[in-house]
Amino acid sequence: MSRVSELSHNYNQIKTSVSALSPTTRLVCVSKYKPASDIQAVYDLGQRHFGENYVQELMEKVANLPQEIQWHFIGSLQSNKCAQLAKNIPNLWVETVDGEKKAKKLNDAREQSEYKDKAPVHVFVQVNTSGESQKSGLDPEDVSKVVDYIIKECPQLKLAGLMTIGSIEQSKASEENKDFATLVQIRDSIEQAFDITGLELSMGMSSDFEEAIKQGSTNVRIGSTIFGGRMTKEEAKTA
Ligand SMILES: *Cc1c(COP(=O)(O)O)cnc(C)c1O
Repeated sequence: MSRVSELSHNYNQIKTSVSALSPTTRLVCVSKYKPASDIQAVYDLGQRHFGENYVQELMEKVANLPQEIQWHFIGSLQSNKCAQLAKNIPNLWVETVDGEKKAKKLNDAREQSEYKDKAPVHVFVQVNTSGESQKSGLDPEDVSKVVDYIIKECPQLKLAGLMTIGSIEQSKASEENKDFATLVQIRDSIEQAFDITGLELSMGMSSDFEEAIKQGSTNVRIGSTIFGGRMTKEEAKTA
């Protein structure tokens, strides 16, 4: 099979499963370590939302691919990279905001950009729902303060919702995923406290997106099932 037909087959299969579970859940195709030609092939099938983990790789892809793409930054966010993202990418979603300082950096850089007041940076606040120490994201009790800051102090940001990466253990559980349930609970309490509605839930990857959608995910981030396996971060460093 050619690469294009392989991608087409995988993409259509995932797209169909996602739509069957929820016609309104957004599919983000996670293309880290994959070439721009792979993204172009999936774009040509109608897909517009793509996810990337590394700023430099993302910037190169932005320069070489259609402007209509909605880019989701889903990697761990470093403060010193916030400005580069917010200044240069018009259709930007940052899913890994985990503090006021980074929200401020994104907002300030957008203020200084040609996209000021034209295209907000969509942000998800990342929550560590599993309590694993190596996982990034805010502790549940710190979410409300950051949400408050984004709503009140960041006119160039649009709060899209909350994001989590569930634990591997929970992704294998045959019953309800507790990490996803935790995110749902936090979303509900935030909506109530701030008297807002429509906050999204970004949860679910290749291994657990079906359960995530059943529990209310509006945004699933799927990579390897579409693009195939990829190098580990360590392998990429020495490649
Ligand atoms: C890589 C990555 C994904 C995609 O993972 P797959 O298991 O390949 O679907 C989703 N979310 C985040 C945050 C990632 O880093």
